[in-house]
Amino acid sequence: MKPFSYATALTPESARELAGQEGAYLAGGNDLLGLMKESILAPKLLVNIKPIPGFNAIEQTARSWILGATTTLAQIENHAGLRQAFPGLHQAVAEVGSLQIRNVATIGGNLAQHSRCWYFRHRDLVCWKKGGDTCLAREGENRYHSIFTGCACISPVVSNLSVVLAALGATVHVRRGDQTLKWSINELYAQAWDDPSAHHSLGSGDLILKIEIPADSRRSAYLQASEKAQFDWALVSCAASAQVDQGRFSRSRIVLGAVAPAPYQVNEANQMLDGQAVDEALAAQVADRLLRDATPVAHNQYKVAIAKALVVRTLLLLRS
Ligand SMILES: Cc1cc2nc3c(=O)[nH]c(=O)nc-3n(C[C@H](O)[C@H](O)[C@H](O)COP(=O)(O)OP(=O)(O)OC[C@H]3O[C@@H](n4cnc5c(N)ncnc54)[C@H](O)[C@@H]3O)c2cc1C
Repeated sequence: MKPFSYATALTPESARELAGQEGAYLAGGNDLLGLMKESILAPKLLVNIKPIPGFNAIEQTARSWILGATTTLAQIENHAGLRQAFPGLHQAVAEVGSLQIRNVATIGGNLAQHSRCWYFRHRDLVCWKKGGDTCLAREGENRYHSIFTGCACISPVVSNLSVVLAALGATVHVRRGDQTLKWSINELYAQAWDDPSAHHSLGSGDLILKIEIPADSRRSAYLQASEKAQFDWALVSCAASAQVDQGRFSRSRIVLGAVAPAPYQVNEANQMLDGQAVDEALAAQVADRLLRDATPVAHNQYKVAIAKALVVRTLLLLRS
C-alpha cells in the first residue's frame, strides 16, 4: 500500500474541500481499503465521512424515507419500519456479504463500489478501467460478467442496493460543486454504459449525501441466485415493485442486477405488467421480453436461464 494522509470531515463541504482531486472518501472501507492494499487505487488523502453529523440517519417524512449516505447496511437491515415498508430492500441488504461486512458497509459505499471483475482487481493487469484500451474478460474468463454486452467493458454492476433502489424509484442526492444533483439510479450508473473506464457516473469529488425512497403503497421483492447459499455475490439478482390491488399490478418495475454495467430494466417489460393480474404465464413473457436483447459471452450463457427463472419467481413473490 502506498503512503497516504488521513483527515476527518465534519461537514459535506469540508469533505469535498479536503478530497479535492486526489483524495477519496472513506466510509466503511470494505471496498476502498482492499483496492488500496492491492495497489489498484492510491489516493493521496483519505477523507473519513462517517463523523459528519446526521450522515447516518434514517428519517421518515410524509412522502419518502431518507437514508443518509453513511447509514450502514446493518442499520437498514435491522430497521423495523424500513423492513415493513420495503421488504425487497430488506432482502437485498440481508444478502450482502456477511454480518461483519454489513455492520460497517454503508449505503453510499455500496452504490459507489468499484467493479469486482477479476481482471480489474488483478494488480498486474491493465484493462479499460485502469487506463488501458481493452476488456480482458470479453475473450477471457467471463462466467460472472455481463450478458448485455453492447458496451466496451463487460464488468457488471454488483451492488445489491442499486438493483432494489432502481425498482423502488429511489433518488440519489449528490453534491457536485455548489450544486446538489438529484439522480435516479439509472443516472447514477449511466456513465458506466458509455465510458468503459467508469464504474458509475460519480466524478472526482462528487459526494453522495443521501438516498430518498418514495413512501408509496407499492410492494417490493428481491431475489438472487448465487453459487453458495450464504455470503456470496449474486450471479444474477432481480428486484420488483408494484402496487397490487385485488391482484392487479400498476406502477410496476422489474430490474435485473449482475447482468449489465447498470441495473437493467426495459420500459416495455414494466408496461406489460401494468393493469394485469400476474400469473406464471405473463411473468414468463415479461422475462422473455426483459432478456430479449441479451448477448451473453462464451462462458455466461447460463445466466440467461437463471435471470428468466428469477424474474418469474420475483413477480410471483410480489403478487403473493
Ligand atoms: C467479502 C465481500 C463480499 C461482498 N458481498 C457483496 C454482495 O453480495 N453484494 C453487494 O452489494 N456488495 C457486496 N460486497 C461489497 C460491499 O457491500 C461494499 O464493499 C460496501 O458496501 C462498500 O461500502 P463501504 O462503506 O465499505 O465503502 P468504502 O469502501 O468506504 O467506499 C467504496 C467506494 O465508494 C466511495 N464512497 C463511499 N461513500 C461515498 C459517498 N458518500 N459519496 C461518494 N463516494 C463514496 C469511496 O471513495 C470508494 O471509492 C462485498 C464485499 C466483500 C468484501
